[in-house]
Amino acid sequence: MNDKQLSPESLMMSYGYDPQLSEGAIKCPIFQTSTFVFKSAEEGKAFFEIAYGHREKMDGEELGLIYSRLNNPDLEILEDRLALWDKADGAAVFDSGMSAISTVLLEFLRPGDLLLYSGPVYGGTDHFINHLLVRYGIENIVFTAHETVEEVEAKLLASGKADRLGLVYLETPANPTNDLLDIEAYVRLAEKYSTEERKVFTAVDNTYMGPLWSHPMDHGADMVLYSATKYIGGHSDLIAGAVCGTAEAILRVKTLRTFMGNMAGPWTGWLLMRSLETLKIRMEEQARNASKVAEFLSSHSSVERVAYLGFLTEKDPQYMIYKRQYSSAGAMLSVYVKGGEAEAFRFLNGMKMIKLAVSLGSTESLAQHPATMTHADVEPEMKKKLGITDNLVRISVGVENPDDLINDIKRALAALSPEEV
Ligand SMILES: *Cc1c(COP(=O)(O)O)cnc(C)c1O
Repeated sequence: MNDKQLSPESLMMSYGYDPQLSEGAIKCPIFQTSTFVFKSAEEGKAFFEIAYGHREKMDGEELGLIYSRLNNPDLEILEDRLALWDKADGAAVFDSGMSAISTVLLEFLRPGDLLLYSGPVYGGTDHFINHLLVRYGIENIVFTAHETVEEVEAKLLASGKADRLGLVYLETPANPTNDLLDIEAYVRLAEKYSTEERKVFTAVDNTYMGPLWSHPMDHGADMVLYSATKYIGGHSDLIAGAVCGTAEAILRVKTLRTFMGNMAGPWTGWLLMRSLETLKIRMEEQARNASKVAEFLSSHSSVERVAYLGFLTEKDPQYMIYKRQYSSAGAMLSVYVKGGEAEAFRFLNGMKMIKLAVSLGSTESLAQHPATMTHADVEPEMKKKLGITDNLVRISVGVENPDDLINDIKRALAALSPEEV
């Protein structure tokens, strides 16, 4: 059977690894090495010619191992496996999600360019765009899921810089509100402002729903970005990032990575391969638990509302995007308790098994308060517009027993209205 006919979850244990090259070891060893020995000077010369693009590969020729900033077996095998989920031409792994994101922004934008991006984006991404890129003369326009693509295009034209549009950057579902963006519509916008000499690329931060439940490249995106710290790593024991994309995009991203030196190390690469073996069962269990927890929360008298994709109905304009782009409602819940910060804090302080920490996507459930924690830096006006209110608690649902999760939440919510336990 051809490897490509197998599902990604079947390939995560073996794809791209030949045990015969490593003493028959069933698992890929950790190649904890900085450099690789060439068989001859001629071989070293040939490897560098290819690495630096001085000539094309000959038929059947592979780029040999040179130095771990350029290539390392743990990273190469991991990248081949990661690319399978998104059916990407290739992938590049980084030492953090922020490394992956900042490298993409720097590679696809030049001084004088304009970045069009969706808000809210991850806090670190927001900071990089509004504090670092502006220093290099890269301006931006932000839009939200509450605006139509036509309205966004009108803003772009009004800026007078539509001809300098360099990159369209989306984060969907938006964190922490679960608002959705229509990827295809924004890819069309990017294409409309592309020219013969200058293609406008589209990048999507898919950390919330990928790589299992959403594949932005199926909707035309050129690049899919990940904080691999989250679902891909999945055990709250590492920091890493990844970009999957078209051959053209990945070549550019990897070239800049070589000179930024922000690739992941072999040990992190090895941990991520370990994690990918259980990616599907972890994420599926998390989503199953999330739907049970969401049901419970939404019927509780101390809860005003739960923003959970599984609760979207056909009447909602977001419903069509949800059905088209996502194969699951995910495992992230935005819970609006009745009251304000005091009630939200009592709820957070009351949970025992569910830990009070930022981050998401791991085996253990985590809860946090976006308004004062992950999104503390967002302007009050913007917070209001986006629905990042004082009574909002974000929960990342893990793989624990769902009854234990619900009991923990039930006990914590009882502290909000002591009369009903
Ligand atoms: C965590 C996160 C990031 C940043 O990733 P790091 O691995 O912490 O650098 C970027 N985007 C989203 C959506 C995230 O949740």
